[in-house]
Amino acid sequence: MLKIKSFVFSPIQENTYILYNEHKDCIIIDPGCYFPAEKDELAAFITQSGLTPRMLLNTHCHLDHVFGNKFVTDTYGLALQLHEKELALLKYAPASGLMYDMPFDNYQGEYIFLKEGDRITLGDDELQVIEAPGHSPGHICFYCAAQNFMISGDVLFNRSIGRTDLPGGSHQTLLKNIREKLFVLPDKTVVYSGHGLETTIGDEKEYNPFLV
Ligand SMILES: [Zn+2]
Ligand SMILES: [Zn+2]
Repeated sequence: MLKIKSFVFSPIQENTYILYNEHKDCIIIDPGCYFPAEKDELAAFITQSGLTPRMLLNTHCHLDHVFGNKFVTDTYGLALQLHEKELALLKYAPASGLMYDMPFDNYQGEYIFLKEGDRITLGDDELQVIEAPGHSPGHICFYCAAQNFMISGDVLFNRSIGRTDLPGGSHQTLLKNIREKLFVLPDKTVVYSGHGLETTIGDEKEYNPFLV
């Protein structure tokens, strides 16, 4: 069984997630911790819960989702796992940070590339990789079928969808992927987004103004 801990980090109010199991192993997804106090908060939760970080995943590589990649790698020695089509965004992220007046040091380590259908296992638990570009070129979501939840990044939000005006974005592609890749999941699937409150697939099918 995976438990989910969320944090809201940086002035961009990004949701960072830690998934952890009964063996106290954990996966860190989209560490958006920017300020030293935020990095301390992430590390303190891991230490106080007695967790061992095993994987570092990015849903996509806009700056707000990658601020803390380097910190996580420096602290826990993990290689970054992401979709190959996000590499250009990752490399551009520090320049983007300067534009937002949020300079930061980028991740410099090795990459492990993920693609549609890959299974990420932590002990007995499993996440499926779902490719859902549109907000960004190589955006992936992590779906846990056994526990009916997904980490959706910036694809689908509570009553909203990801913006598509950034480089590599496509509104039509995003809508198509939400309909064909996310809305086919069970209605009770809980959606943990990159920003804002959690929701469910069923609620978004019924109430999301971009998709009804
Ligand atoms: Zn984004
Ligand atoms: Zn974001």
